[in-house]
Amino acid sequence: MEESKKYHMSLDDFEHNGQELLSWIKKYYENIESYPVMSQTAPGQIRSALPPKAPQSGDTFQDILQDVEKIILPGITHWQSPNFFAYFPANASGPAILGDLLSSCFGVQGMIWATSPACTELETHILDWLVDMLDLPNKFKSSSDGGGVIQDTASSASLCAVLSAREKVTKFSSNMKGCHDKLVAYTSSQAHSSIEKAIKIAGIGKENLRLIDVDKEFAMRPELLDEQINKDIKRGKIPFFVCATVGTTSSNALDPLEAIGKICEWYQIWLHVDAAMSGTAAVCPEFRFIHEGLEYADSYCFNPHKWMFTNFDCDCFYVADRKVLIETLSILPEYLRNKATESGAVIDYRDWHVPLGRRFRSLKLWFVIRHYGIEGLQHHIRQHVKLAQQFADWVKRDHQFELVAPVPLNLVCFRHKAGDDFNANLLDKLNQSGELYLTHTKLNDCYTLRFCVGQTSTEQRHVVKAWRKIRETASKLDKTVH
Ligand code: PLP
Repeated sequence: MEESKKYHMSLDDFEHNGQELLSWIKKYYENIESYPVMSQTAPGQIRSALPPKAPQSGDTFQDILQDVEKIILPGITHWQSPNFFAYFPANASGPAILGDLLSSCFGVQGMIWATSPACTELETHILDWLVDMLDLPNKFKSSSDGGGVIQDTASSASLCAVLSAREKVTKFSSNMKGCHDKLVAYTSSQAHSSIEKAIKIAGIGKENLRLIDVDKEFAMRPELLDEQINKDIKRGKIPFFVCATVGTTSSNALDPLEAIGKICEWYQIWLHVDAAMSGTAAVCPEFRFIHEGLEYADSYCFNPHKWMFTNFDCDCFYVADRKVLIETLSILPEYLRNKATESGAVIDYRDWHVPLGRRFRSLKLWFVIRHYGIEGLQHHIRQHVKLAQQFADWVKRDHQFELVAPVPLNLVCFRHKAGDDFNANLLDKLNQSGELYLTHTKLNDCYTLRFCVGQTSTEQRHVVKAWRKIRETASKLDKTVH
């Protein structure tokens, strides 16, 4: 064989191996319920099964695949299992996986329009589709002053929102001269940790992030926000950023956007809305109440990689005024200058997020939306919400368990009445069984179990089985305690 070709995988082998891998994936999904949902491996177990040095000469594809089964599979927590009810979902689907494969096939780096026009234009178009699909404010469309961009995660999107807000309020001087020490930001005590992280990275300082207290439903109390902003202004501070959450991580609480929005409008503060998981629910008209007041937002994000059947990573980030975002993040070294950019007729997404390079992520989202159609997405979201509501109903009717928070959508926060240690023990036993996977949080300082329905293949029988397992495990534990 020619020296130059000796090491590559030939196209014929690629096709053959690819078919083998697709068959492997099919079998994996067929058997997914036979694996323990949460990986049962001990720390270091996977590494100890791997050779200490990389191979000097290449292995066959069959050898690699065998090691996937032998070494990797035991270390997988099966996020795509229908018995996965932990965290928030990260659901995938056939069309998304295939779209992602095609993205890898093209292997384009879409940093600017000129490096692959389709990568930019499909993204702009799909993000406009989503504004209609979720009935988001029109100001987020590319035909207005705003627009959307796909980011890797909600954490990155929130960081971009903080940076844009910082630049806007300091008239773009923080980028040049360093950060302003008077800036203060606000979010609720239930906001995701990514907001605190963004505030730290943006140089605002954790001490300048005010965590506003929540009401009994774990939603931000707007009157306390108003009070705190007032206090800060009197102390000579400059309030510049508020993050409201639509569907908090702990309990799916919905911050009152309208009341918060009015406060932000009054004080001219940037309002960012983080709807990481729950935003997808708005594909169904009956769940659009979650976005009431969104018209006040300067930026908004949600993750198709959580609940819209689009495998990780894929966050949709929208801004009402793209000029601010672009001016905040824009760089133009000589080697990226080109005629299309200079004409002003194209979008260069490298100026819309932190990294320069970017994958062709819109392909998988396009495949998903075209495959399911709006109708298919609505069907599955409704089904997940219905199953979670049914589960919540069973909890309510069982005298040993109680709900700990309202259940607006697909997350149920509940606990056994026997106390924190009992619930922690119950969670351990359930997860060790491998039959299902749940995680916990603390609400009102009480150890709380979270049951989130959002996996692609979760059906009623899985939820029924999970509830039975929870009750049986609890009653066995009860007997050992007494
Ligand atoms: N915001 C909320 C409300 C979340 O629940 C999460 C993750 O669960 C995030 C942000 C962070 O998401 P990502 O992993 O996309 O950064």
